[in-house]
Amino acid sequence: MIFTARFAPSPTGPLHLGHAYSAILAHDMARAAGGRFLLRMEDTDLQRSKPEWEALILEDMAWLGLTWDGPVLRQSEHLDGYNARLDALADMGLLYPCRCSRADIRAALAAPQEGSPHEVYPGTCRHRPLSNRGPGDALRLDLARALDQLGADLPVFSETGPAHEGRHRIDRTTALETIGDVVLSRKGENIVAYFLASALDDAEQRISHVIRGEDLFDFTAIQVILLTLLNLPVPVYHHHRLIRDEQGKRLAKRDDARAIAKYRREGVSPGEIRRLVGLR
Ligand code: GLU
Repeated sequence: MIFTARFAPSPTGPLHLGHAYSAILAHDMARAAGGRFLLRMEDTDLQRSKPEWEALILEDMAWLGLTWDGPVLRQSEHLDGYNARLDALADMGLLYPCRCSRADIRAALAAPQEGSPHEVYPGTCRHRPLSNRGPGDALRLDLARALDQLGADLPVFSETGPAHEGRHRIDRTTALETIGDVVLSRKGENIVAYFLASALDDAEQRISHVIRGEDLFDFTAIQVILLTLLNLPVPVYHHHRLIRDEQGKRLAKRDDARAIAKYRREGVSPGEIRRLVGLR
């Protein structure tokens, strides 16, 4: 399989130094391997995604000297494809409708959960059949059933990033305690959750190596579970360090002070950006 990496920004703000690091790393790893580097706009958040941000991202990428292969994939143009995969999970009996609000979930949880990437859903709506789905309901994955379906040998994935390097087998207890019944289709809008769309596109675009920030490591197990349930290939993952500000906080989209566009305006060169993020 040809080494294929991608950069998958959400066009909801300007690229900052952290994105530039991620894009350059994925690009350079792909080129060094004689492979392909693809670009994908993760624009399923239809409210916050804007064509102006996409245009600026493309401009910044070109300015950084990054070239990508083939056309840009826009997730907003493939919503039917994601829904077909949701239907497949529904046919396997793994989805249920959920009408809980954030406040309902908080109230149902005995104590706030520490050390997990999000609140683990307490299962209030798990008994509801899909036929009971109301127009405003989200769809959740019944994780225990999904794991049953995968059998005793849960899937394994490879990680090549420095913090978690090695082979990881999904662990049932950890998955139930830290992931739980995640939302796969968001309330009201009928729009697929970004981490499902992202995993499906990694398969669709035949990504061999998912190179992305360490902050997304916690999504890997659920993405591997979903890909395996759908009989799709599981890529190798590589989670890289995050670029932090002087206070040690990771950069956020609103961190305009470190926007690539701002450095460009100030006359900083692409080579200097590479050095700023610790690359040559
Ligand atoms: N769209 C996500 C982001 O901008 C990245 C998802 C991924 O790389 O898997 O944070």
